[in-house]
Amino acid sequence: MKTNRISLEEALDLAKNADFLTLGRLAREIACKKNGKRGAYLIDRNINYTNVCSARCNFCAFYRPTVNHRESYNLTYAEIDSKIAEALEMGSRRILMQGGLHPDHTLDDYVNLVSHIKKSHPTIHVHAFSPPEIHHVAVKAGISHEETLTRLKEAGLGSMPGGGAEILVDSVRDRIMTGKCNTQTWLDVMEALHRIGLRSSATMMIGHIESWKDRIEHLDRLRSLQDKTGGFISFVPWTFQPENTAMNPQAKRNRNVKLATPYEYLRLLALSRIYLDNFDHIQVSLLTQGTKVAQIGLHFGADDLGSLLIEENVVRSAGCPQEVGLKKEKMIRIIREAGLEPYERDTFYNRV
Ligand code: SF4
Repeated sequence: MKTNRISLEEALDLAKNADFLTLGRLAREIACKKNGKRGAYLIDRNINYTNVCSARCNFCAFYRPTVNHRESYNLTYAEIDSKIAEALEMGSRRILMQGGLHPDHTLDDYVNLVSHIKKSHPTIHVHAFSPPEIHHVAVKAGISHEETLTRLKEAGLGSMPGGGAEILVDSVRDRIMTGKCNTQTWLDVMEALHRIGLRSSATMMIGHIESWKDRIEHLDRLRSLQDKTGGFISFVPWTFQPENTAMNPQAKRNRNVKLATPYEYLRLLALSRIYLDNFDHIQVSLLTQGTKVAQIGLHFGADDLGSLLIEENVVRSAGCPQEVGLKKEKMIRIIREAGLEPYERDTFYNRV
């Protein structure tokens, strides 16, 4: 346990009272100490294998509630193979694969899918699923998270994205979602994943009904788990995108929803760099913030712009206007023009 780190109370004070540019400068100094003046990016493709979901998240515009819904889908192996082949052609080395909590999907379906992908495309890194998906199939199989994850690891799972975290405070989760795992389960799945030697990212969705205290509690839970396992690769905060969701603040019933401004996002980004002293990397969400804020984010503690995103469906369903499928040259230019040295990375931040 580090002793000179800031406390939850100090972080809350900084969040509310610190001068904006001072916060950014402090975060930037830490980022430079950890990673030099470098900005990372990677090439990957999001594959959302199904949009059928038994959970009800008020912030989600992607899911369809039943298999029979006219807009529901479940990708076939052939469709997934063709998406991976396209991604490989575009220089991608990994896929990020997630989907809804399909009521009929079992652990065997997940295992067979990963195994099929690794047999058809042995070089692709499978960065897939999330704690809610793992919990969903583990409960159905009647086995532990660790046994579930071990079977997926044996099939070829390479690492896990940090999806489904939103805000790791149950009083918030209970108001914005039903049928999805709670805070402790999210943390338990991540701990089990790290215990079997796989690593993951961690995320946070801000700009809805959460307070600064909730955000810092979320960071604190991640920091504590990282002290224990060291299994988190990076932290990625992003902002709620309201269009087509049940939490759109334009509806009268959602007067309590406060979308995050770029100013607030950057404060949180800087604060996360300061608070998460045991995380090596912080990613600014290019997808939800766009190029201009992302460039500033590289001066507010972030050292990574994430993916070119050959395909993305979840955040775009909620009206996110940002460009996907950026050209590699443009990504390099965005980082270089922010004054950093760009480098293409793999999942574990090795230069490729
Ligand atoms: S966020 Fe995920 S778990 Fe929640 S409704 Fe959407 S697809 Fe389902």
